[in-house]
Order: sequence, then structure tokens, then C-alpha cells
Amino acid sequence: MQDYSEKLQEVTNEQLGRHLVVSERVEAGETLLDEQPLMVAPHWECGQLKCAQCMQESYIICRKCQVYPLCMDCSDHDAFECDFFASGAGSRISKDLLVKHYSICALLKMLLLLEDPARRDQCQPLVNRPITLEDYRDKDGMWQEHEEQVVRPIISSGLVEALPEQHLTSDILHAHCIRIDSNAFEVTARDGDMLKGVYVCGASLPHHCVPNTVVSLDEQFNMKLYAAVPLETGTVVHTSYTNPLMGTSQRQHQLRLTRHMDCACSRCLDPTELNTHMSSMKCRDCSDGYAVCELAGSGDWRCMSATCGAVMPAGDVHQLLGEVGSALVNAKGELEAYESLLAQHKQLFHPNHFLLLDIKQNIASILRAATLMNSLNDPCKKLMQRRVELCADLLPVCRAVVPGISKLYAIALFEYLVAFVELTELQFADADVSKKEYVAMLMRARVVAKEALELLQFEPENSAEGFLTERIGMELERIESDLMKYGKL
Ligand SMILES: [Zn+2]
Ligand SMILES: [Zn+2]
Ligand SMILES: [Zn+2]
Ligand SMILES: [Zn+2]
Repeated sequence: MQDYSEKLQEVTNEQLGRHLVVSERVEAGETLLDEQPLMVAPHWECGQLKCAQCMQESYIICRKCQVYPLCMDCSDHDAFECDFFASGAGSRISKDLLVKHYSICALLKMLLLLEDPARRDQCQPLVNRPITLEDYRDKDGMWQEHEEQVVRPIISSGLVEALPEQHLTSDILHAHCIRIDSNAFEVTARDGDMLKGVYVCGASLPHHCVPNTVVSLDEQFNMKLYAAVPLETGTVVHTSYTNPLMGTSQRQHQLRLTRHMDCACSRCLDPTELNTHMSSMKCRDCSDGYAVCELAGSGDWRCMSATCGAVMPAGDVHQLLGEVGSALVNAKGELEAYESLLAQHKQLFHPNHFLLLDIKQNIASILRAATLMNSLNDPCKKLMQRRVELCADLLPVCRAVVPGISKLYAIALFEYLVAFVELTELQFADADVSKKEYVAMLMRARVVAKEALELLQFEPENSAEGFLTERIGMELERIESDLMKYGKL
């Protein structure tokens, strides 16, 4: 199931629980952990039936057990699960159990793993971890969602009676749901849908908003964890469970919801967010000051300029963030709506503010789609130029928030590279730039491509990042061949 590097040691303390510490210096890129998923399952709210074998869209039901969905390509699925419903203790349970209540899928998988004598032990570390249900009960929508979509359908299905050894109660089922959620990573199915992969070790690593490791997942959902930066002896191995392009308030909100934790990492405690100013506001009282949140004090924003120091009340800032946030949702993929949002709010936020970055990313992806669709007839260089600028704006922020080997930065470099090369080629074809200028631009593109490839070198071949590596390699070949043609190498 899992395989640790010899350079790690398992340690337990009160603050972090069981975790891993480096016992001998590790270089960036070195593998720390290989782990197969305990299980891969759809999200609770998933409505589309998925093949029990390959997790792609399902069109038929297993003929043997008549319970599990299958696809056209798969003729069977896990034998223990199938036999349980075909001829075992579950044979009296209604055959439309999953068709009617697909949301129970992940928990059903876990219950049958616990029932299977051959695999029970794999689950044990997960089940042994204590959970204080009172921390979760009735706190937010999550408990209610589990109750309605998972726990109640399982209790009324007869599964509790079919699994008597497990002594299942409503509370135990709720605890299992929480265990699944808190040990899950988002994984991408072959058809592009998001699933949750439950990992006993990889998903129980302590969180840090600036992780010192990289998680990579191959097509079989096997996890490889490797060092993002050199790790000295004694370093705690961290991962991140949030999106690094969110601001501190957003990340903390997400961590509270999904992990029930308050993060106090170095980024969360730094009002400038590693000098990116991703949550900083433009000061209203002076022309060039930026206001940052006084995290340790009132929580208000205060201008950093020594001569100003004006205060923006936290309530005002949060209200504005809420307004822009809902406007973003309402923009619904409309280019003009995003552009007007950006024009309207540029003056209020730091240029790196997470909301502006979010708007810019939306614009860039609309422009990318537009270039793909209709550029051949009427290539609009102005829009392509705009896309290059937006992609460039994101680069320094991506670099700062995930130091070392970073997939986030590699992907941002790739987006920039494609936009830049497309524009450059067109400018050269239209004779907007001279041959000498074109060669200089290609040389710049080559540096970007090589940097992206270097960041992705530790990713498995059969993964999304592996395919990206191939794609960048092809781009680099084209650049090199044009350089051969037009410039001296
Ligand atoms: Zn299948
Ligand atoms: Zn079956
Ligand atoms: Zn943090
Ligand atoms: Zn000021």
C-alpha cells in the first residue's frame, strides 16, 4: 500500500498527531512516499453513475450482482463487492440501492473494505484515528448533507443488519464520512471528472500553506510525494490542502470547512503573504500606499506607508470582497463582464490581489478558447497580446507562493509560453517584427519552455503533468527548429 523513504521517521506529538520528520537530508525532487489509494470514489453529490471498475461514465449494471454500475468496456469489478450483493449477506438488499442513492458510494466502499478480511487491515489506521463528533455535529451544512445523502439511506437500506460485526450506528457512519473527507485528495478521472482518492498516509500529512513537498498522481491514482525544496534533518513533512492562489481569508475559510483546522503557518501569519500582497488593498488616503490586514491586532487593514497609516475597517473590506466575489460568480464566462469588473476594481486593490488575479485568469482562459476557435480566419493580435500580458502577470505570484519545484508555476509558465509563441509567430508572419526581433523572442520562449520542463521532471509519465511535459517538449522542438532556420544557434 505505501512505501516510505528511509530518510523519514514517524513521530507523534500533541500538536500534529502522527507525522513524518526528515531524519537525513533530502534533496529537492527526491521521492518521500509512494502510496496506492485505499479507495477512489465519486463525491457525495455526484449524480452521474460511474463504472465500479474504471470510474468512467456507466451505462449498464453488473449482471452478476445487479447493483454496481459498469461501463461498456468493463465486464466485472471488485470480486468481494460483487459477491457480497450477488450471493453474500447483501443479497437481500434492494438491487436499486446505488441507482437510487448513488451518494452512498464512497461510504459503501469503505464498509465493504472493513468487512473484507483480506483488506480490513489497510483501513485500520484510518479508523483508529479518533474523531470528536461534537466538533462537527450541526456545525454547518456538511453534517446535514452526510445525514441526508449517506447515513439515512444506508440505515434504511438494510446494510447495517447485513454487516452485524461492524456494529454500525448513525454516529459511526458519520465518523466514517468525516474520515473519508479528511483523507481525500481531489483526483481526476480519465474522462476529466473529479473524484476523491482516499490515502491513509499521504492525506494525513500536516498542512502548511507553503508546502515543502509536491503530490503527484498517475493515471491509476497512485500517489508519489516528493520534496519541493531540499529538506534538512528535523524538518516536518508538509503538504497543502488549499489553493495557493487564494488569499489568506479564503484559504482559512476553506481549511475550516474541509479540515476543521485553523492554519497558523508562516504565510497565514504574514500580512503581506510572502510579499505578494495577495490580500492588500490600495490605501484610500494616500496615493501610493497599500493597506495590509493587522492579523495580530484588530483585524482592520492599515496603510503600510510610514507617513500615512490610515485604517480601513475590516467590515468595509469584507463587504467589498463579498460584492466582488458575487459579481465574479454572476459574470458567468462573459468576457465583457470580467473586463468591466477588472476596470472597476483595479483602483481599489493591490495589483496582485487574489480577486484581480481570479478575474484575470478568467479573461485569459476565455481568450485562449477564442484563439482556438476562430483565430485562423481573423486573428486578433490585440486580444492575443492581452492574453500574453495576463499570463505574464500571474507568473511572479505563482513563483512566490509555491517555492522550489512547483507544478502551479510550471503550468503558469506553459500558459504563458503558448500565448507568447502564438503571438510571436503571427507577428513574424505579418512582418510586424524583424527576423532579428523574432529570433530574440524565440530565445526567450526557449528559456521559458526549459524552465517549465525542469519543474515537471519528477512527474510520472502516465499523469496529466506527464502529458503536459510531452506537449512542452513538442513546443520546444518547434522553437528550436525555427531558431535553426532563422538564427544562428
Ligand atoms: Zn469501466
Ligand atoms: Zn457485480
Ligand atoms: Zn496557512
Ligand atoms: Zn495610506
